[in-house]
Amino acid sequence: MNRKKRLRKKRLRASLLGLIVIIGITAASFAVRGLGSENKNNEEKPPKEQPQEEPVKEEPKPEVIHDITINIKATGDIMFHPSQIDGAYDAETKTYDFHNSFKAVKDILSDADLAIANFEGTTAGNEVYSYQGYPLFNAPDEVLDAIKDAGFDVLSTANNHSLDTRKAGLIRTVQQINVRGMDSIGTYVEKPQTRVLIKDVQGIKVAFLSYTEMLNGLDSVMSPEDLDTLINIIDETKMKEDIAYAKEQKADVIIAVLHWGNEYARAQTATQEAVADMLFTEGADIILGSHPHVIQPAKTLEYGGKTKFVAYSMGNFLSNQRVETLVPYGMTEEVSKYTEDGVVIDIEIEKKGETGEVSIKKIEYIPLWVYKGKTADGGTEHVVYPIMEYIESKDVDANSKTRMNRSYSDTMAQMNAE
Ligand SMILES: [Zn+2]
Repeated sequence: MNRKKRLRKKRLRASLLGLIVIIGITAASFAVRGLGSENKNNEEKPPKEQPQEEPVKEEPKPEVIHDITINIKATGDIMFHPSQIDGAYDAETKTYDFHNSFKAVKDILSDADLAIANFEGTTAGNEVYSYQGYPLFNAPDEVLDAIKDAGFDVLSTANNHSLDTRKAGLIRTVQQINVRGMDSIGTYVEKPQTRVLIKDVQGIKVAFLSYTEMLNGLDSVMSPEDLDTLINIIDETKMKEDIAYAKEQKADVIIAVLHWGNEYARAQTATQEAVADMLFTEGADIILGSHPHVIQPAKTLEYGGKTKFVAYSMGNFLSNQRVETLVPYGMTEEVSKYTEDGVVIDIEIEKKGETGEVSIKKIEYIPLWVYKGKTADGGTEHVVYPIMEYIESKDVDANSKTRMNRSYSDTMAQMNAE
């Protein structure tokens, strides 16, 4: 449970307690009065004639439905490459621990009413596949412990790496996410009743849809039936069905998570724009994109008088992609530097108590940058830093600060925000 929720629970408990105390005092005063009149003969003073108190009539009060505001925080691709897996391994205890990567963003994520990201890869165990990175991602289950503890609630699992460890890996990944109390969207253990996840977030009903544009040519590892039912591939008919279902279920907000676009392209494709337009026209409110591994523009758009929001790509949240690792593979520094950039998009949604009207109230951006360095014991560490909190920190070296500065301005320029 996040801090806000706990606080709300506490407040609720406090007001309930208050109510109980008031009832208690009222009951006690009635009891004392009652006792007094029954035992009047024992009293020294003659009983005074007191006008009988009118029983308090409870006027039925009209139920006041308060406005509700929630914050949803969304971020991009979470990937685990070999150097991250090695860096998280403790040879003495033979265990993995990935918490260090999330330590600087935990407070930001835990503070959300709901935090969501794209989990790019699988957790298939290490019996059939070893723990490995690109091109067939398979991370230890412990990555999900760290992701959960960082504050994530929902992971989108429909992406081009969903089938990296085949059907068994796809299924096990969903199970491992779910067993830790997180929801997964976009891939399934078995044919689902509905492809849509509906969650009540503090009284606002949010529907989550998730689809991927590509499967890295691994489509053939699944039977046509499994491909149709266990993973959501971008499909206009299915998307329209899912939005219609969310509306039927009276969802207040419809969020579509899309894995799409061209890798390392800092602008969205015409296809992304067309799919977004279709989704918004049908009734989606928010589109959260990923896959390009760099940040693409975010925009608010008006549809039928309602403000909609699309982030075409939220970049990498955590990975080993960066200048040092991509330039040796032939990528230019100019392109590869953007893979170090991430962002948490903080979307405030309000539901009016009186009218039930739901709207996007505010959108804020928290630019992130992934640090890679050596630990005191010679290991490798990857840490996601919220730039504004760490740009002045003495814990961050000068080179990282220069890179953070570059990252911050480029990310904010893409978000069209100041
Ligand atoms: Zn991808």
